[in-house]
Amino acid sequence: MRDFSQAPFLVIWEVTQACDLACVHCRASAEPRRHPLELTTEEGFRLLDEVREFGDPLVVFTGGDPLKRPDLFELLKYSVDLGLRTTVTPSATPLLTAEAIERFRDCGVSRMAVSVDGPDAATHDDFRRVPGSFDRTMFALEHARRIGLETQVNTTVTRLNRDTLPRIANLVAASGARLWSVFFLVATGRALRTDDLDADAYEEVFAYLYELSKTAPFDIKTTEAQHYRRYVAQQRKREGGAAGSPKAPAGPIQRQAGINDGKGFVFISHTGEIYPSGFLPVSGGNVRQDSLVEVYRTSPLFVALRNPDRLRGKCRICEYRNLCGGSRSRAYALTGDWLAEDPKCAYEPRDRHVALVNS
Ligand code: SF4
Repeated sequence: MRDFSQAPFLVIWEVTQACDLACVHCRASAEPRRHPLELTTEEGFRLLDEVREFGDPLVVFTGGDPLKRPDLFELLKYSVDLGLRTTVTPSATPLLTAEAIERFRDCGVSRMAVSVDGPDAATHDDFRRVPGSFDRTMFALEHARRIGLETQVNTTVTRLNRDTLPRIANLVAASGARLWSVFFLVATGRALRTDDLDADAYEEVFAYLYELSKTAPFDIKTTEAQHYRRYVAQQRKREGGAAGSPKAPAGPIQRQAGINDGKGFVFISHTGEIYPSGFLPVSGGNVRQDSLVEVYRTSPLFVALRNPDRLRGKCRICEYRNLCGGSRSRAYALTGDWLAEDPKCAYEPRDRHVALVNS
């Protein structure tokens, strides 16, 4: 088991915020033009060298749209040549051509992730605010499969698309994608609080994902729903424990155990800010003048985020706090306090009444 106080499992680098889409829930509030203070190619190489000092974390090149950077393939190749497992999340725009997908494979990229937020062109393109995005996404998945490049589908769950999840899951299965990564909304960037589900609806989606995970031909992972791990643990216990439940989902859930914003996870912004997550834009330093490794290991922000005794509210006293810990990003987005309890968790910890009596 990796020691998350020393090294992350996952490093996300937002290589640019530029993007030709205008998605309604965009974390980055992306715009078509590149920011003049984006990390340069040389700074990107140095950043990747530093990432390698952590060992071999998974590196995700994200955006915006990474394809808006003309040096993208050079950077991807550099990352792969360093021995880093490297994945990329392009946007479905005219830049995502067959040739671009083939170049991902030829660079040695391990996986390409694309977003599907609706089961058909009408709903997906409405999210993405650009007609044709759905068809391009389907083309990209199909082409990647044809040339042997592994894929992942990312879906952001909101009030608007939650009822269509089974149809999206069918698309994921048909595409041959290896992983369905289900993002739960954090009201930051362009995302609206009113589009988010309430805590009970989160539990309903968890129930759906858990049942699906028993039979789906792809793995399922959640992002910013740390409490899905609590849900899975509860179900496995009800079903007779890990050993007594042969169909219970393992895989990504076990690998993610304990990962949270700043704990096993670090995000580098387009201008080099070191954030615990792209959804938690509080900076521990900047790679232009600070060591990424030092910031991750020793900055007060990251150290506090990894300490469950610093949590507040019910997350502090919860028996699942080491496995889950609640979304620090959502706590920040909804309360302004990144150590507050996750406002979208329906669970009542066993010791809640004790804490109330003693408070
Ligand atoms: S109370 Fe907090 S730590 Fe416990 S399950 Fe909910 S979000 Fe996770």
